[in-house]
Amino acid sequence: MAWQGDRGTRHQRGYGHRWVKLRDTILQRDGHLCIPCLHNGRPTPAKQVDHITPKSQGGTDEHDNLQSICVDCHKAKTASEAAVIRDALRAEGKPSIGDDGWVTLPTKWGYSIPHGLRPSAIPVTIICGPPASGKTTYAHEHAAPTDKIIDLDEITQRIGGKMWETDRAIIRRALSYRDVMIRSLADAHTGAAWFIVTGKTAQERKTWLQALGEKARLVVMDTPKAVCIERILAEPRRADAARSQILAVDKWQ
Ligand SMILES: [Zn+2]
Repeated sequence: MAWQGDRGTRHQRGYGHRWVKLRDTILQRDGHLCIPCLHNGRPTPAKQVDHITPKSQGGTDEHDNLQSICVDCHKAKTASEAAVIRDALRAEGKPSIGDDGWVTLPTKWGYSIPHGLRPSAIPVTIICGPPASGKTTYAHEHAAPTDKIIDLDEITQRIGGKMWETDRAIIRRALSYRDVMIRSLADAHTGAAWFIVTGKTAQERKTWLQALGEKARLVVMDTPKAVCIERILAEPRRADAARSQILAVDKWQ
């Protein structure tokens, strides 16, 4: 990631001759005084110039994004910027295994709804139901050939996993792929989408619906739990995942 990357030489970082000139301009503009210190009512000599919004967060070299700064303030600011990035990474979350046996990523919304999700710009049907309740079949029966179907199981296979994968690393990769697909709905122009997700509780289903916005509707499979469990047991390819899937059927509300 950008802020961890090889810092390179001053020139590669954009701190060459042009920067020296720019720095002098800003120092002169600010009267060679530290702006953060000035805000705190203690004029302190400054020899450095700081990006108010860091370059790693998209800050530019425009004059209004630059300020003169003293060594102490610069150190403090750099440390707090690193802390912000660390916190953001922590908030993006270490995945954990939910009690339905699937990996979950903590997010603002809770459940597995990706962070900062924007509403869908095209109609999207959220198909919820316990494992083996027929969600995928429903999607393929109702979707037009050009519609998008977002199905974690199908994505898992596409990235080389098994139909019912239990490997956490593969599931994690599939989930981030799925999240990209969900996010892309906000910028889609044509067609419709069908999004398959267990949606274990009414609250979770409602939250997905809310997150995907006004163009989203919800379909909940009404397959009896006993039928789902029968199907899971009858499908040898599900063997590895059978136990956690049966548990998920049992817990589905
Ligand atoms: Zn200062």
